[in-house]
Amino acid sequence: MAWQFLGTIYGGKILKSVNLGITKEYDLEGSLSKKLNVPIVVRNDAKCAAMAENKIGCLKGKKRALFLTLGTGIGGAVLMNNKLLDTGSFPGLEVGHTIIEKNGRTCNCGKKGCFETYASMKVFKNELRSALGLTEKTRGEELLRMIRANKPGEENYEVIENIISEFIENLSIGISNLVNIFEPEAIGIGGSFVFFSDVLLPRLKEYLLSSNLLFNEHKDIEISSAILANDAGIIGSTL
Ligand SMILES: [Zn+2]
Repeated sequence: MAWQFLGTIYGGKILKSVNLGITKEYDLEGSLSKKLNVPIVVRNDAKCAAMAENKIGCLKGKKRALFLTLGTGIGGAVLMNNKLLDTGSFPGLEVGHTIIEKNGRTCNCGKKGCFETYASMKVFKNELRSALGLTEKTRGEELLRMIRANKPGEENYEVIENIISEFIENLSIGISNLVNIFEPEAIGIGGSFVFFSDVLLPRLKEYLLSSNLLFNEHKDIEISSAILANDAGIIGSTL
């Protein structure tokens, strides 16, 4: 039985999951195997999703690819020759905890200015709610409907536009840092971002290409949403 998990996993153990408040090592694989009496494999959710998308999804046929999950936080995986990049005895690819703002927002990991405190979908949705005077009860579907209906002249046009622009800018900074290091053939984005893909993805691509963030001159950049959506991690955990 395979299980994907939001957090830093190594050898079936959760080393930590800052967004779930787990700060101590916990042998999830061992505990589950004992309780359920079946072999269990526990892996990081972003890495599972990247494997699935590489096999049958948006990164199919790409030997060198970058995959990000934008949800509660930001997870990442790098595929080289269709295999996850080996980071040795540390899990690695903690892209959500790379710093994009010196002395910036405090992150659940204890550092300041982490990428995911500016560009996770949770942060994006909360910023929209806060600027529009909405409570946490306003679901993502409703926010998406508001973005789609947002046209010049509408009451909240500027407010919504500014939050989207700021989000796209921050997301582009984080992604460009990774592109400049790995130069992937393609980039896939999963997590709840996929539901907002029609309103965010074209803008992200345009900003990445038109801003001065990429070191090498790219005429085009292949960036798409996870085809397997939120199921990517579950499928990938079995590969
Ligand atoms: Zn952090």
